[in-house]
Amino acid sequence: MQAIRILQHGGPEVLEFTDLPTPAPGPGQALIRIEAAGINFIDTYLREGRYPTPLPSTLGQEAAGIIIALGANTAAGGFHVGDRVAWTHFPGTYAQLAVAPLDLLVHVPEAITSQQAAAAMLQGMTAHYLAHSVYPLRSGDEILIHAGAGGVGLLLTQIAKSLGARVFTTVSNEEKAELSRAAGADEVILYTREDFAEAVKKLSPEGLHVVYDSVGKTTFDKSLSVLRRRGTMVLFGASSGAVPPFDLIRLSQLGSLYITRPTLKDYMATREELERRAGEVFRSIADGSLTLRIEHIYPLAAAADAHRDLEGRKTTGKLLLIP
Ligand code: NDP
Repeated sequence: MQAIRILQHGGPEVLEFTDLPTPAPGPGQALIRIEAAGINFIDTYLREGRYPTPLPSTLGQEAAGIIIALGANTAAGGFHVGDRVAWTHFPGTYAQLAVAPLDLLVHVPEAITSQQAAAAMLQGMTAHYLAHSVYPLRSGDEILIHAGAGGVGLLLTQIAKSLGARVFTTVSNEEKAELSRAAGADEVILYTREDFAEAVKKLSPEGLHVVYDSVGKTTFDKSLSVLRRRGTMVLFGASSGAVPPFDLIRLSQLGSLYITRPTLKDYMATREELERRAGEVFRSIADGSLTLRIEHIYPLAAAADAHRDLEGRKTTGKLLLIP
């Protein structure tokens, strides 16, 4: 089968398009023919070696496809050969075939295409847990979402608006600003033209209830400065680099702030939570209340181009790989 593998950590050039043996599903696992695989920012961290990864490694951790075999002695657990499934958080999805544990699979409803399912698992469930579980948004909350036209940003904006929040976003250019507005953002700030903290303070003198910050290094300090007393900082990514060590006393000096650094794995921690969260995301896509923007579909062999585009801030919405 064809796959994208890395033998060493580094830039996009370490992504190697290669032939690998068909993986064998172990007990409790399925072998799946991938119809669409998601590209996520975390794939670039793993490629670079920012998080420990065994080498060689097949990149990617989100996909949708058809089960073609089950591991020996595997109790079906509701899954059968021929079922259309999707999953996230199991490596090896930049490939034509992949194995995945049954306990991470969810069935894809008829109304959802495999491309939509692959686009929704990681970013969709992330937007869902950020808005519903990390800080359950209430009507009237004033919030800031960085990278408002990004994969998570567009989805989080829509969910936050549906919950009644007043949504501020930051974006780098006018095209992204248009997309963010179309997703429902009330105040879109082009941080390349004006200081986002100054702009927020003008529009919300009391300060914001929450900042959802996935950019990290370049935004973190100013994000803290726009929170109101007892506001919440949700640092959930590091697109610009990791935030340096932080002295907790600053939370008191800035107004008894809360801070959390959540990750999706802990918000799909049980089978019940995974099925409920994925089910709600799929239902919102099917009924039209959540719109996915699949901006670019790359052939598997062009995975390195997708990484360059994502890291180069050239993209909006979701990127997919089709094997
Ligand atoms: P995005 O589509 O949001 O792409 C990243 C965007 O960040 C860029 O388009 C760019 O938007 C902005 N950005 C600002 N500074 C930089 C920089 N120096 N380099 C690159 N991009 C920059 O990606 P995703 O939606 O896939 O992911 C968004 C973030 O959320 C990532 O940090 C990811 O790791 C994190 N994440 C965290 C999860 C969790 O559970 N903790 C789960 C899923 C994602 P602009 O041009 O407008 O500045």
